[in-house]
Amino acid sequence: MKNLIYFLIIGCLLYACDTKQKETTTTVEENKVEEEIKETPTPTKEITDPKETEVWDPEPKAISFDSMNVPSDAIVLFDGSDLDQWIATKDSAQAGWTINPDKTMTVKPGTGDIQTKRNFGSVQLHLEWKAPDVLVGDGQGRGNSGVFFQNRYEVQILDSYQNRTYANGQATSIYKQHIPLANATKPNDQWQTYDIIFHQPEFENGKKKTSGSFTVIHNGVLVQDHVEILGTTEYIGPPKNNPHGEGPIKLQDHSNPVHYRNIWIRELK
Ligand code: MG
Repeated sequence: MKNLIYFLIIGCLLYACDTKQKETTTTVEENKVEEEIKETPTPTKEITDPKETEVWDPEPKAISFDSMNVPSDAIVLFDGSDLDQWIATKDSAQAGWTINPDKTMTVKPGTGDIQTKRNFGSVQLHLEWKAPDVLVGDGQGRGNSGVFFQNRYEVQILDSYQNRTYANGQATSIYKQHIPLANATKPNDQWQTYDIIFHQPEFENGKKKTSGSFTVIHNGVLVQDHVEILGTTEYIGPPKNNPHGEGPIKLQDHSNPVHYRNIWIRELK
């Protein structure tokens, strides 16, 4: 009798364990199925109406153009009337370059660089230039000027028409950093256009966080395609990356009477 009771108790215990195990296994399997259902992506509804992919806001602002083709949202830096937007870099006095009757200006060699009174961050800049009327010198000595962004980063202006020099110093080079993709320079009796998109570098805690970049279009030809600015464009030695904020646009007096006209800028914010 005693033995029978033992068998009954053990039998009950074994049955209980088995049932519990089955329950646990079922729960795990149920969870698995639930997870699988969750991971299965909902099939996307096929889009058949073209309106479903239309976005109407924000609406881009409308731009108009004046007789010189200057966009209405641009800041005019030089339109031939005066040099009111500019000062001499060396002493902040009134810029001393020559304004000509045909609404152009010419570098007055020896008077020094000129720069805008205003500071700028990231910008789109348009300028037109023409090499000196008389072909003098060669290499870096022929029709040399330059446009600097934030007073530090030079896009070279040089009479590079049939005038060889080091490739990272010819017209539209990011001086000593990037060789242009092509030489689109026109002869010295023709006006040329530069359209430049400049994104400023970003600094944090005294160090460069993000490099700036240049895109340059010369006479309608893409010559710098979103290239990284490695630092300041030094004549001697490697680029420097000291933190800075916004800065002026500067035009270089490299002792050659280069002509300019129709300079405007759009702030990229
Ligand atoms: Mg230069």
